[in-house]
Amino acid sequence: MDSLQQMYQQVILDHAKKPHGRMPGVPESVSAAPSYMEMNGTTVAASHQVNPTCGDEITLKLKTKDGKIEDVEWLGQGCSISQASASVMTDLIKGAQFADAHEAEQAFLALMNSRGKGLDDEATEELLGDAIAFTGTSQYPARIKCALLGWMALKDALNQATSAAS
Ligand code: ZN
Repeated sequence: MDSLQQMYQQVILDHAKKPHGRMPGVPESVSAAPSYMEMNGTTVAASHQVNPTCGDEITLKLKTKDGKIEDVEWLGQGCSISQASASVMTDLIKGAQFADAHEAEQAFLALMNSRGKGLDDEATEELLGDAIAFTGTSQYPARIKCALLGWMALKDALNQATSAAS
């Protein structure tokens, strides 16, 4: 293992040990239309995602206002990759505009499709912050779904927040 891979490994271990944004509790399915707008204009959007091949599960909750993600909380259980990935994602999207969060989600999806090669595009890699540590994960098709779990929840919750606000 070279030093870059070792550093990536450490990032994943750190996040898995202490996941950012994870609340105590068991992830639950959310009702069919979980998004709602509060009196003050804040939209709360939630998404529940399961990766049955590994047993990973997440319930992600976004608080958004005026096209911006104000707060991120989630309940999760599963393998270290799934929990660490959701943690890294939380750091990236907290305080982000919808467009920037969407861009990061697209970049992470591209990274997961790179078969371990990375993105070959510095500007896009910069969007990913610590999520670049999952480059190696993209070599293993069975683990890609683990890494994508939180991001799938983000995509779903963002869609809901967008339609609830319009
Ligand atoms: Zn997993």
